[in-house]
Amino acid sequence: MKVVDHLKNANGKTLFTLEILPPLKGENIKNLFDNIDPLMEFKPPFIDVTYHREEYVYKKKENGLLEKSTTRKRPGTVGICAAIQNRYKLDTVPHIICGGFSKEETENALIDLHFLGIDNVLALQGDAIKTEAKFVPDPEGHHYASELLEQMVRMNKGIFLDDELQTASPTNFCIGVAGYPEKHFSAPNLKSDLKYLKMKVDMGASYIVTQMFFDNKKYFEFVDKCREMGIMVPIIPGIKPITAKVQTTVLPKIFNIDLPEDLTDEVEKCKDNAAVKEVGIKWCVQQSKELMKYGVPTLHFYSMGKSDPVYRIAKELF
Ligand SMILES: Cc1cc2nc3c(=O)[nH]c(=O)nc-3n(C[C@H](O)[C@H](O)[C@H](O)COP(=O)(O)OP(=O)(O)OC[C@H]3O[C@@H](n4cnc5c(N)ncnc54)[C@H](O)[C@@H]3O)c2cc1C
Repeated sequence: MKVVDHLKNANGKTLFTLEILPPLKGENIKNLFDNIDPLMEFKPPFIDVTYHREEYVYKKKENGLLEKSTTRKRPGTVGICAAIQNRYKLDTVPHIICGGFSKEETENALIDLHFLGIDNVLALQGDAIKTEAKFVPDPEGHHYASELLEQMVRMNKGIFLDDELQTASPTNFCIGVAGYPEKHFSAPNLKSDLKYLKMKVDMGASYIVTQMFFDNKKYFEFVDKCREMGIMVPIIPGIKPITAKVQTTVLPKIFNIDLPEDLTDEVEKCKDNAAVKEVGIKWCVQQSKELMKYGVPTLHFYSMGKSDPVYRIAKELF
């Protein structure tokens, strides 16, 4: 079933959904299932699975020189989506990124998803390679999420890259895109960012998932601005509980977000990360309650591989 249909069928009730990361290469998928199993109590209708770019690693050779090689530390997004669909009988949303893929490779990946019965995708530019300062598109690939979205929309109409294919069977993807209540880090201002967000929606994106935020005011203002511009699709809030002190400096740097003073003041008072986790859970519960009252279609939790805090939050809400 499509994400938008899940949202519609909820009839105004707020759903519980989550985003997970594929395990590190070599890890057993059982660890992932052990994390997801308890969350099934809250009946998530769909789970997002992130996609991770290749990274450069440098190994020292006998002659002292460094040898550069490429590795993907968290492969398996498509396999995990299929495994979750099989095991839990719910829908999965693989994240599809521009970075590192030619259009042809993207088309093949989308064909695999279609054959697996995975009809939901989140179309993203994708992060830059960790050791590179900015995003560099594949020479044969897409630069912006909107271009990737366009390829998906064309496939939904049965138009594939090979224009000699006259009778290609269309795919049936429900396509989501990312939105940034506090602006994407590379956008000159929020207005410019929203212009491109609107472009993605006008081109066929059916819903938006936001970057994490810790101040609901930012989300409410973002939704208002989107609606003023005529962006009328569902805007799913992405939220995450703080679980470690270091996150108060790392999250703003990685995600270009602010943390409210009240939250950082509380975290600073904590003696250890066990105490920080309690503060993070309390904050996230309060945030969630206010978002539910506002009428958000789903609370989308960034679980980051740890289900325990999300379980405790969901237990108070659902
Ligand atoms: C919910 C969510 C899930 C994510 N999941 C993943 C994941 O699984 N894997 C991963 O690697 N990353 C993921 N990311 C991170 C995301 O890939 C990065 O934030 C990336 O830098 C931007 O992606 P985007 O799809 O928003 O890009 P785009 O929509 O392409 O926008 C990127 C920037 O370019 C601007 N822009 C857009 N179109 C144009 C245009 N035509 N001309 C000029 N400027 C333009 C935008 O304003 C923005 O500043 C996720 C982010 C979110 C919010």
